[in-house]
Amino acid sequence: MPTKKASAKKPAPVKLWKREPGWDKLGAGEEAKLQKYCEEYRQFISENKTERRAFSAILKLAQANGFKDITTLNDQGKRLKPGDGVYRTVDGKTILLARIGKAPIEQGINLVGGHIDCPRLDLKPYPLYQDEELVLLDTHYYGGIKHYQWLVLPLALYGVIIRRDGTKVDISIGDRPEDPVFTITDILPHLDIDQSRKTMAEGVKGERLNVVCGSRPVDKKHDEKDVSQKAKLNILRILKEKYGIEEEDFGSAEIEVVPAGPARDLGFDRSMILGYGHDDRVCSYAAARAVIDFKGVPKRTMGALLCDKEEIGSYGRTGMDSTFLPNTVAELIAGCHGMNYSELLVRRTLENTKMLSADVGTLADPDYKGVNSDNNAGRLNCGLEVNKYDGGRGKGGASDASAEFVAEVRKIFNDAKVVWQMCELGKPDVGGGGTIAMYMARYGIQVIDCGVGLLCMHAPWEIAGKLDIYMAYKGYSAFVANA
Ligand code: MN
Ligand code: MN
Repeated sequence: MPTKKASAKKPAPVKLWKREPGWDKLGAGEEAKLQKYCEEYRQFISENKTERRAFSAILKLAQANGFKDITTLNDQGKRLKPGDGVYRTVDGKTILLARIGKAPIEQGINLVGGHIDCPRLDLKPYPLYQDEELVLLDTHYYGGIKHYQWLVLPLALYGVIIRRDGTKVDISIGDRPEDPVFTITDILPHLDIDQSRKTMAEGVKGERLNVVCGSRPVDKKHDEKDVSQKAKLNILRILKEKYGIEEEDFGSAEIEVVPAGPARDLGFDRSMILGYGHDDRVCSYAAARAVIDFKGVPKRTMGALLCDKEEIGSYGRTGMDSTFLPNTVAELIAGCHGMNYSELLVRRTLENTKMLSADVGTLADPDYKGVNSDNNAGRLNCGLEVNKYDGGRGKGGASDASAEFVAEVRKIFNDAKVVWQMCELGKPDVGGGGTIAMYMARYGIQVIDCGVGLLCMHAPWEIAGKLDIYMAYKGYSAFVANA
């Protein structure tokens, strides 16, 4: 008999967990998909610079793909079946899209949630005034902005004004080539000796973010007696002619000042997009597309939650510190179970829900190396960021996902060949931030932060890498289908 060969088994090679740009990891034909998706996204953020507009665009896309209002279906007594697409909205600003799965809904929803409000300047209730020759719009900033970044940029105005009689007028001015734009002045360097000695936080105060909107006095034929503010009167005349509004109507208005102009490809290699409002439309658009584009009947019910007011703490009835999510889940239970609706099923659904809190993260910036821990900072175009925790200092305000849930998400991404990276938001003592994760965890939802890394977050123009933008769509699509 031949002697048994000693099996000299070679030990498995030890591998480094390397983070590198993900371009070489794209599958066959995936480059074209990436470019197409990024172009659709670039157009989406160029055309939808406010939460109301982003909401309307997503709602329209969902309706075009057969999604129906769950409240209406319930009122009509229509039962939901696996594969059905439904939505629920509040105030034209927050929306949840769901596609019903094969499994009973109380086994939980695979949910991806982001926000569609962005840092900006809101007009005050008495915005219009004249000082020297200029007519200005007084603003109150919304979200965490660095005031000085908003000076001397072309700006656009978007929003709604509700007139005295309750009718609504939509304002959209500054983005069409034929439109005028608006701006905020800054002092010339020849005379900035006082300003230049101040800290960056002190140099430009929020109260002086006043938007130039006119200067020409009203014509003699429109002139009234005793009017000192003739240029302001002229603006009021134009507003009355164009929109049929009077000054008091600004009291019942929401007008947002945002950067004018479209998002653009960035760099000779076009590997990035420079745009307003990546935070957080880069994630919320991907979440919506993941659910809308899904073909067939999912195993579990899938959902995309696009919400408002995240940038100011998630308060208000359109923010996630509200009853919107549990109320929507209640409607879904009624849609699936009809007369067998129970509060217990609502709570079970919430507690069995798995969620990606889809919000943007930070990236290593060569000019600001000090703020991130080298090994744990997100890297541009190295893939979708997974943040086990965020918060500030001692993880304050973080919901801190369990290692088990991280492993589950990691497996879904690896199986689907999603390029992803683990990250944290800066060095422990430097600062921090929060997302909607903590409000979702309140319901017992398993939730983890997962989104696209940005450079210059909250600036009028933010930078995102195209590979990361696409990987958000690919990753969220894998999560809603397979979690
Ligand atoms: Mn955000
Ligand atoms: Mn933000």
